[in-house]
Formats: sequence, C-alpha cells, structure tokens
Amino acid sequence: MKLSSHHFRSLSSSGLPMAKMDPGSNSLMWFRKGLRIHDNPALEYAAKDSKHVYPVFVIDPRYMEPDPTAFSPGSARAGLNRIRFLLESLTDLDKSLKNLGSRLLVLKGEPSEIVIHCLKEWNINKLCFEFDTEPYYQALDDKIKSYASLVGIEIFSPVSHTLFNPAEIIQKNGGTPPLSYQSFIKVAGQPSWSSSCLSTSLSCLPPPGNLGSCTISEVPSLNDLGYEESEEDERTPIRGGESEALRRLSESIADKDWVANFEKPKGDPSAFLKPATTVLSPYLKFGCLSPRYFYQCIQEVQKNVKRHTSPPVSLLGQLLWRDFFYTVAFGTPNFDKMRGNRICKQIPWDSNDELLAAWRDARTGFPWIDAIMVQLRKWGWMHHLARHCVACFLTRGDLYVHWEKGRDVFERLLVDSDWAINNGNWLWLSCSSFFYQYNRIYSPISFGKKYDPNGNYIRHFLPVLKDMPKEYIYEPWCAPLSIQTKAKCIIGKDYPKPVVSHDSASKECRRRLAEAYELNKKQNGTVSEEDLKKLRRKLEEDKIQESKSKRLKQKSIG
Ligand code: FAD
Repeated sequence: MKLSSHHFRSLSSSGLPMAKMDPGSNSLMWFRKGLRIHDNPALEYAAKDSKHVYPVFVIDPRYMEPDPTAFSPGSARAGLNRIRFLLESLTDLDKSLKNLGSRLLVLKGEPSEIVIHCLKEWNINKLCFEFDTEPYYQALDDKIKSYASLVGIEIFSPVSHTLFNPAEIIQKNGGTPPLSYQSFIKVAGQPSWSSSCLSTSLSCLPPPGNLGSCTISEVPSLNDLGYEESEEDERTPIRGGESEALRRLSESIADKDWVANFEKPKGDPSAFLKPATTVLSPYLKFGCLSPRYFYQCIQEVQKNVKRHTSPPVSLLGQLLWRDFFYTVAFGTPNFDKMRGNRICKQIPWDSNDELLAAWRDARTGFPWIDAIMVQLRKWGWMHHLARHCVACFLTRGDLYVHWEKGRDVFERLLVDSDWAINNGNWLWLSCSSFFYQYNRIYSPISFGKKYDPNGNYIRHFLPVLKDMPKEYIYEPWCAPLSIQTKAKCIIGKDYPKPVVSHDSASKECRRRLAEAYELNKKQNGTVSEEDLKKLRRKLEEDKIQESKSKRLKQKSIG
C-alpha cells in the first residue's frame, strides 16, 4: 500500500511545496520519535527521487547521560527501563533499515549542532523529520529550520505522530484548543485519511553516501552509554521496537470481540499477567507504532462486527484521548506548570519531601498504592486506573503534594512517558484542570479490593506481604500481632505503618481544595503568589484553631 502524493501533501505541516528533486540529491532522515518504517511519511519523502538517504538518530545527552545522583538508575530525565526500550527500538529500526539496503547512523551530542554539521558535511538537499509538538523539539526544530532555510535546504516535517494536526484543530476552533473531549471530537470530525491506504511497507531505500568526518556508531548498548546492567529481580516485560509493536497490535486486534466490547474505565487495574488494556502506549510514545495504522486496524474490526462500543470508552476513543491531550498541550502555554497556565487551577499545594519520597519509593504503608509504585519502578507501566489511584493519593486524595512533583516521577519512570499525556492526566487527577469533582476520592483500601479481593497484585509486587491473610492484605496495620508474626511481616518493621490516616487526610484535602476553588472563583483566574501564601496561612491557622477546640472539648468531657 502506498500513500498517494496528494495524501502526502495533506499531511505536510511545513507548508513547503513538494519540489521535484534532482535524482542526484541527498536527503537526511532525522529519526527522533517515529521509530518505524510503516506509515512514515517523512522517511518516504526522504527516499523519493534521492540518490542517498542518511537515516540519522542523535543520542541526546540531555536524555541519555547517566545521572548517578538520580533516585533510581538512569539519566536525570529517564529511568533505565525507558532508555533500554529506546535502544531496543533503535536496534530493531537499524535491522529493518539494513533489510532495505540502508542502516541507522547513530551520532552523539547536542542534536541541533550534530544535525547542522551533518547537513553541511553530506551536502544535504532535503531534511525530513516528523513534526513534534513538545516545547523542547519545537525550540530545537526552530534552530534547525532557520539554518536550513538560510542555506536553501528543503524541509519536510509531516504530522504523523498524532491522528490529527493539533495546529489545524486549534485553528478550526477559533485559535484556542477545545478543552473538553466532546468539543474536541466535534471539531476534529473524521480524520481525512481514515479510509485511505497508508503505506505499511517500503521495498528498498537509497543507501547513505560518503560519511565524511561525522562520527558514526552502531546502536550503543547500555554499557556503551555508561550504565551498568543491574541484577534486578524483575525486569519490565515490555520490549522495544516496531516489530514488537506490530506483533502486539495484531495480538490485540485478533480478538475481535475484545476490541468491539472494549470499555474504559471498565477493566481490571490489578491484572498484570494479562493486562486489561493493549499496553501499546510505549510503542505509540516512541512512534514504533503509527497511531493512524492502529486507528485503521480498529476501524477494520468495527466494520466487521454487529455492535461495538463508542468514544470516549472504546479503544478508538482511547486514541482520541491521546490526540485531545496533544492538542490542548500544544495550544496552552506553560501546560506543564501550575503558574502561568491559564487552564490550571491555582492551588497552594504542600511541598513535603518526606511524603513525596515515601510515595515515590513505595513506602506509604498502603499496599495498594505501594504495589502500583513498585510496578512503575519495575515495569515502567501500570493500568490507567492504577495511575489514577496513585496520582489522586499523592495530590488531592491524601498527601496534598504538588502534582508537578508526581508528574516528574512518572515522567522519569514510565516507559510510555509522554509530555502531553502525562501532564494532561496529572492536571486531571489533581483536579487542577478538565475534571473538578474533588469530593470523589479513590480509597487506597477499598478500590483495589473490588477487583482483586485476594490481593494477588499486592503479593506479586510487594512480596513482603505475600503471606498476609486476605482479610488484612489491603490494611495490614489492622492485623493482630500474632497474624503479622505468622505472616513474617511486622508492620512498622518489615513494612511501614501508613503515612497518614486516609479518613482524616482525605477530609482535610477536600477542605483545602474547597477553599482553593473558592479563591480561584473569587479572583477569576488571576490568583497571585501572595493570594496563595495568604490562603496557606489561613488554612494553617484554621487547623491550629480546630485542634485547640478539639483538645478543649476532650478536656471538658474528661
Ligand atoms: P489502552 O487502553 O490500550 O489505550 C490505547 C492507547 O490510547 C494508549 O496506548 C494511549 O496512547 C491512549 N490512551 C489511553 N488512555 C489515555 C488517556 N487517558 N489519555 C491519553 N491517551 C490515552 N499515557 C501515556 O501514554 N503516557 C504517559 O506519560 C501517561 N501518563 C499518565 C499519567 C497519569 C496520572 C494518568 C492517570 C494516566 C497517564 N497516561 C499516560 C494515560 C493512560 O494511563 C495510558 O495511556 C494507558 O494506561 C496506557 O496503556 P495501554 O496502552 O494499554 O492503553
């Protein structure tokens, strides 16, 4: 299947004309995300009428350099699981390129310097790379584009990481992004390509030409990058690469009934031997899987069944959630911050590093929460509702810690860590944006029990609790000492006591959220740092007053 040139043109976000190239020309295909051969319009265009195509990946120290001071193995920005996933994806891509008569050229350094050096050294006529909405790539791309246009290099930067072009949706919506899923769906409509053929394979690629003075390497190993492979007891079962993505995709869509009846948020967050959802997010994050190809495969299944679920709960609806967050993130300055973010409620969160570390290191004393955080650390992936539970617990549910702190931990440890989706969901779960029912709090005790009364998920990820009777597995601090002894798990010694009492902490969180919402309403979106300080002081004074009157009451009863 081939993309028609018309199709190509409609996907271009560069707005540049598709000039007929001299067959002697050289193209540079710059892979960043989009680590795939199928449905890769930038790669196809690079190959078109070119004598040489240089497929490049730049190891960016910002993401890849080991950081020995980080709270777990990895770089400052990425845990080891995600770095390993990326290297596996690059190895797979290199193998596919070799099958097409080419190879992946790996370079290391600040990406704009490296790419500009390559453009000069290889006498490049056209530079092709997938359009990226993240602020980091936007800034990088601006630098490269201004150099390229100065020297007359053609740039082709198509939108192929999302279903829709976020810029077009924003424009259609009058200049700002739609802020609800329903309005997004209405504006977006049916994707223009939904019934066109996407290119799913290439037969060959022009080879790279002379490499000149550029320092090229094979895909490095973790060791080459300065990491030590630790003897972990459990490794993530999620392997990187396009081949694995397509294998998993066909496995998921082979079960037509499952696809047709997919309904989120139904589904068991504690299922880990066979997760309740596709686990395709890491592949979408790195572009090992094309979201448009995924969309068409789902569409194909839906065409051939009598009845199927619909957005927002259907599988197709999940892909639309992804595009929704991409669009809002692209059109919202400071989307990843509370301050200066016009869609984010201003809330005087606590900055309690001890509670944050207890949450991050799976030491809250709530087995359901801690098991999820262990799964995050070991697998880099958890079910959507499990993410809900721990994000709610850290912020508006129990600990009242700033969502940006939790976001940072997810951003580093998730294999599917995605700037737009992660920030969007943290805004959602902390009731800072999109969702405002702060009275609805997930119980860290009863929520998981509904799905997994025996606590198998907890027993797997927290083996210290494996012999705790099921009556106490969600609240082991309630077990009599004789039972704790028999289970070889003394609470407070082998496993922590709960860091807060859920009943009183959640009540306090609701009270604080109510006050913060009131302040936001009163100030009509212009809450200053000073306003937040004042509110923080007031809440502290109220608390002191409350405990004073409690003590007085107790005294008078006594
Ligand atoms: P499926 O249910 O099989 O869905 C298919 C695809 O749809 C997913 O792979 C994903 O690309 C997309 N999708 C599903 N749910 C959502 C959603 N709520 N928002 C946007 N896209 C969605 N997802 C990430 O990909 N990266 C993140 O960094 C990330 N951070 C999150 C942080 C929090 C606090 C929460 C609550 C959710 C986060 N999610 C994130 C969204 C969601 O949990 C995952 O996309 C999903 O669990 C991935 O599993 P799956 O591929 O099996 O999903």
